[in-house]
Amino acid sequence: MHISELKVRCLSKPSFNLSEFLNFLADENLDWHRTLNSTPAEELVEVAGRICYMSFGEGKQSPRRNNEYIDNLIRQGHESVLEHVNWSFLMSGVSRAFTHQLVRHRIGFSYSQLSQQYHDESNASFVLPVEIRNNPDLCEVWKRNIHNSVAMYKEIMGRVYADDSINGHSKKEILRSLRSASRSILPNATETKIIVTANARAIRHFLIMRGGIDGDHEMRSISYEIYKIVSLDAPALFQDFKVVELTDGSVKVIRNNGKEKS
Ligand SMILES: Cc1cc2nc3c(=O)[nH]c(=O)nc-3n(C[C@H](O)[C@H](O)[C@H](O)COP(=O)(O)OP(=O)(O)OC[C@H]3O[C@@H](n4cnc5c(N)ncnc54)[C@H](O)[C@@H]3O)c2cc1C
Repeated sequence: MHISELKVRCLSKPSFNLSEFLNFLADENLDWHRTLNSTPAEELVEVAGRICYMSFGEGKQSPRRNNEYIDNLIRQGHESVLEHVNWSFLMSGVSRAFTHQLVRHRIGFSYSQLSQQYHDESNASFVLPVEIRNNPDLCEVWKRNIHNSVAMYKEIMGRVYADDSINGHSKKEILRSLRSASRSILPNATETKIIVTANARAIRHFLIMRGGIDGDHEMRSISYEIYKIVSLDAPALFQDFKVVELTDGSVKVIRNNGKEKS
């Protein structure tokens, strides 16, 4: 039995075409007091906010630095400007249980997930929950059940593979429909891979809903992996979040103002 490990890879991150934006400002005869060391994501959000009021340059720009400007946008609820920056993550070593919860997040998220209809899961890996991993007795029960499920899955699929009377196109069709049926045996712990694209506003909402959730180590771990990536690329957009270490060594990501849900 393969036990998989969680991995969140960042496939794409926000970019900002500064020279093109400076061309625009030159055409408009405007100046912009930029904040030194702001990231592309932070600058894109700032200009999205400023374009609403054309608040560029002397007399039009307050002395706020980029992070203060963004903090003010968020506090005012002017959060649509956060939708211009997007990340794509490749998550692997995550369970179907987790992705079932993840895909409930409908707004500002896009998903492409490994299909159990088209992909034979005979050699699937499984995600062993930390809560069970730390208890040898529970671990034994868990592994026995996974083993049984996989054995049944393989038995159903194996019968069709072995049936020489079915061949050609019909065999392909039967295999596909049997994969669809056999996946009903597979546990929630079955490992899956999913590409997730999300904008900063949606990620903030996700972290508030899920980052500090008690009793769901996998959800919190993935929230933390996401937070590490986005807070590095765009610190100002996530400045009101913090990481709290728990007594069991795990972490949760919560909003600094204590608005986390659990
Ligand atoms: C602690 C916890 C327990 C949960 N338990 C269950 C459970 O037992 N059963 C279950 O089915 N789900 C459960 N959920 C899932 C939850 O109900 C949401 O489906 C999920 O968290 C996605 O959140 P969302 O709808 O806010 O996100 P998104 O779908 O990304 O939506 C973002 C925001 O857009 C707005 N929005 C989106 N769609 C609409 C709409 N149709 N109408 C109006 N406004 C909209 C809302 O403001 C929403 O918060 C649970 C979630 C948590 C955090």
